[in-house]
Amino acid sequence: MFDLKGKVAVVTGGNGGIGLGMARGLASAGAQIVIAARNREKSRAAVAEIEKRGGAAIAVDVDVISEASVSAMTTATMDRLGRLDILVNNAGINIRKPAHELALDEWRRVLDTNLTSAFLCSRAAYPIMKRGGGGKVINIGSMMSIFGAPFAPAYSASKGGIVQLTKSLATTWARDNIQVNAVLPGWIDTDLTQQARREVPGLNDLVLRRTPAGRWGVGEDMAGIAVFLASAASDFITGAVIPVDGGFSVQA
Ligand code: NDP
Repeated sequence: MFDLKGKVAVVTGGNGGIGLGMARGLASAGAQIVIAARNREKSRAAVAEIEKRGGAAIAVDVDVISEASVSAMTTATMDRLGRLDILVNNAGINIRKPAHELALDEWRRVLDTNLTSAFLCSRAAYPIMKRGGGGKVINIGSMMSIFGAPFAPAYSASKGGIVQLTKSLATTWARDNIQVNAVLPGWIDTDLTQQARREVPGLNDLVLRRTPAGRWGVGEDMAGIAVFLASAASDFITGAVIPVDGGFSVQA
């Protein structure tokens, strides 16, 4: 039920953090992985790591804010691996400033990278998945899909938007046997949140105090949900929004 042998999974931002954690999980279930990101050195290292664990992966350059680059990513995937069954829309950034200090260009950069990218990548994958008889799209939201924070106006808007985009795509493509779901990670220890810890005073204490599991998540915590949502086990689940947060979102 969880077997992904013969499937190809594109993971945007798969060269580190949550994306790499998911890519490792998908690879261990048998999928061939496309690590799609900008930093070639990091992407090569991620491919090498997956191969070392016995998985199969290639790296493809992409800048997810560019429509042309996203189109080149799906073309390269088809040219090199011949199919595309699973898309993880994971690439993301944050620019931590209150709304009154955020420039329009910064707002746009966050929305383009975190939200418009998911639209572009999903739209590019759709005809391929449809032709192939179905597919799985996994969008990465955040606790900021639910909560707000003074340091994250654009990020929260983008992650709230990811949830609604997920529901819309799910309803649109269900008859094509394409399931679209969103994962809302809690606080996960990655490059992104190492930077957040430096920029947001008291964040580490807040996360440890509020997370019922009493710890930061790690990339590996994201592997199971990725395999579940990419596999036949979740074929009747679409438009769902699933927190993977050690209980953060249910803590009063
Ligand atoms: P990282 O900074 O470790 O990873 C971000 C990834 O996105 C990198 O692989 C980066 O690769 C890629 N990326 C950024 N911009 C672009 C772009 N324009 N084109 C292609 N790739 C891009 O952070 P995380 O692993 O923490 O974050 C991954 C996702 O999870 C994000 O969407 C984030 O918002 C979300 N998230 C993270 C949480 C956490 O606690 N860590 C909590 C909730 C959600 P490169 O620079 O090589 O392009």
